[in-house]
Amino acid sequence: MTGRMTLALPSKGRLREPSWALLEASGVSPQEPGERVLQAHCRNADIDLLFVRADDVPEYVQDGVVDCGITGLDLVLERECSVEVLLRLGFGTCSLQAAVSSEDAATCIEDLGGRRVATSHPRVAAKALTERGVAAEIVSVAGSVEIAPRLGLADAIIDLVSTGSTLRTNGLRSIGVLFESEAVLIGRVNSKDFEARRVLTTVLGSVINARANRYLLCNVAKDRLGEVTAVLPTVGSPTVMDLATPGVVAVHALVPAADIWSLLPKLEAAGASSIITLPVERLVP
Ligand code: AMP
Repeated sequence: MTGRMTLALPSKGRLREPSWALLEASGVSPQEPGERVLQAHCRNADIDLLFVRADDVPEYVQDGVVDCGITGLDLVLERECSVEVLLRLGFGTCSLQAAVSSEDAATCIEDLGGRRVATSHPRVAAKALTERGVAAEIVSVAGSVEIAPRLGLADAIIDLVSTGSTLRTNGLRSIGVLFESEAVLIGRVNSKDFEARRVLTTVLGSVINARANRYLLCNVAKDRLGEVTAVLPTVGSPTVMDLATPGVVAVHALVPAADIWSLLPKLEAAGASSIITLPVERLVP
């Protein structure tokens, strides 16, 4: 490490809380996490934090004002900044979607050819339409994109959507996804501080991996062990240990959190009992 590393974090908006929570879970939270603080040092690590708007993070990183930053992938592409995406963070997930009013005849993105499309993401939208060979007129607006069709400003919109409720509330219907986004850790291109970056990426990555997995424990009669291991969706080999009761073993395995719902009844049917799942704090594969 050549000195203290600087990390830009979103100071407000949707990405603020989950970014701060990720640092907290990584054990390197800010020392003075006040609302109005613009800079802070990290507990337990040689990292200086700079709190700026998520939109500004790509430029700060590109221009070398900070070494790394957390922001939305959509913002990196919209700003056309030259930065390296070091890690996908699994929160702030959303998609850039094209939508028309419910009465409109369009059913797919290709139907937007020759029409006016309002968006506050003009560069990403224009690039995605061009890649699909759709020649639409982009109308760039700063906000409240969803009312543009009702105001007669445009025939359609292209906007970021996470649940789709804003589209529905405004009488709009999605006609397709152009791009999937999530929060990312970005770093300077050609940074010299590779070691500090590697440490940060490994530590944050261990928390992201841990969140996606659960530690599963269960007991099973030895003669049904094969049935239990056959339904476990683990990548590595499960740990199998003899119990004090003869003929019974304990099985420990790391399983994807998303599979727990369907896995528990299958394990029970395969003869497992005393099934326990625990959260994982860190996971470095
Ligand atoms: P902010 O405007 O500061 O609240 O942050 C906007 C960023 O949050 C976007 O650039 C996306 O990366 C992310 N995001 C996640 N879900 C959504 C959504 N439904 N609408 C807009 N931005 C979203």
